Amino acid sequence: NSDLILHVNLELVNLERKRRYTVKDILGQGTFGQVAKCWDLETNCYVAVKIIKNQPAYYRQAVVEVSILHMLNQKFDPDDKHHIVRILDYFVFQRHLCVSFEMLGSNLYELIKMNHFKGFSLSIVQMFSKQILHALIVMKDAGLIHCDMKPENILISTRRGSNCNSSAEIVKPTEIKVIDFGSACMEGRTVYSYIQSRYYRSPEVVLGYPYTSSIDMWSLGCIVAELFLGLPLFPGASEYDLLKRMIQILGGQPPDNLLRDSKNTIKFFKHVGSIYRLENDEMSKELTSAYRVLTEDEYEARESKRPSIGKNYFNHVKLEDIIANYPYRKNLPEEEISKDNHVAESLTRLALVDFLRGLVEFDP
Ligand code: ATP
Ligand code: MG
Ligand code: MG
Repeated sequence: NSDLILHVNLELVNLERKRRYTVKDILGQGTFGQVAKCWDLETNCYVAVKIIKNQPAYYRQAVVEVSILHMLNQKFDPDDKHHIVRILDYFVFQRHLCVSFEMLGSNLYELIKMNHFKGFSLSIVQMFSKQILHALIVMKDAGLIHCDMKPENILISTRRGSNCNSSAEIVKPTEIKVIDFGSACMEGRTVYSYIQSRYYRSPEVVLGYPYTSSIDMWSLGCIVAELFLGLPLFPGASEYDLLKRMIQILGGQPPDNLLRDSKNTIKFFKHVGSIYRLENDEMSKELTSAYRVLTEDEYEARESKRPSIGKNYFNHVKLEDIIANYPYRKNLPEEEISKDNHVAESLTRLALVDFLRGLVEFDP
């Protein structure tokens, strides 16, 4: 079944058809190529066209994205009710595979930024969470794992006249859509081990344990907390740092059976007697280099493919400004407020407690 699903016959595309799209603007750029805002002369609408680099790896990834979205749109969401981006067309133009999508607006990271990283009210968080959950249910039914759920891949839909393009103000109800199925895979066919953007990466992926669609649910949890906090929950600077933050914030390490059966455990943990202990930074560095699967260059190349919020974060906004405007600042003793990242961390923990209290009254 999935063989059929993953088969896209590009020969069916009419290569000779007349020009249909006029490029108006560039919406996004990445390692894959560019996303252009185009005017569709046939339908008189704007569309987003992803123009893929003329290289086999990106081409193959895009073919997966096309086939997966076709299946999701046609079979699992024919009436466009489940908050998954619509794919409209695909074609080859001057040896570039091009995929057109419905035109959407800002992504949730941009929205958080427009809101000065202060976080949204619980009712807005709830409105977005419900919709993302709808999309995840459909993916689960389709036996699909998205593998890259993060705020950048959730876009505001413009079809219901949301004004979120121009201001941080959210007019209810605001519709959102999940995009970017370029890393998605079928459950039970999980070939890649280096997946998910780091802040949203699940423990089983970090540890190298067989994964399921639960990893998308982990990312969702991180996204939901970030929408409320305005700051990422686990802004791990490395995988080790990510694990350390998870353990700190969650108050315990992954269960022993998970650690015992994961192939990367040895990269991060030391086995003392029957106890797994997280290595300290220095020792971990040595271990990581001794046990690393990728070379330094390979690792860097793959990391830089992912636009990390961490990098953008403090480029666009000064940390002091975030802290000064952060609603939870009042809960922190003055002497603890200094210009280092730990303040953001402590604030996050305080805010999280409030968030969890709020969740009790959360009506899913
Ligand atoms: P990479 O992982 O190499 O960075 P990508 O797989 O993340 O690329 P997409 O997420 O599909 O690529 O698109 C990149 C950006 O283009 C998005 O973050 C968004 O800003 C913009 N974009 C994509 N699709 C649309 C759309 N349908 N409407 C409006 N903007 C879009
Ligand atoms: Mg993306
Ligand atoms: Mg992608």
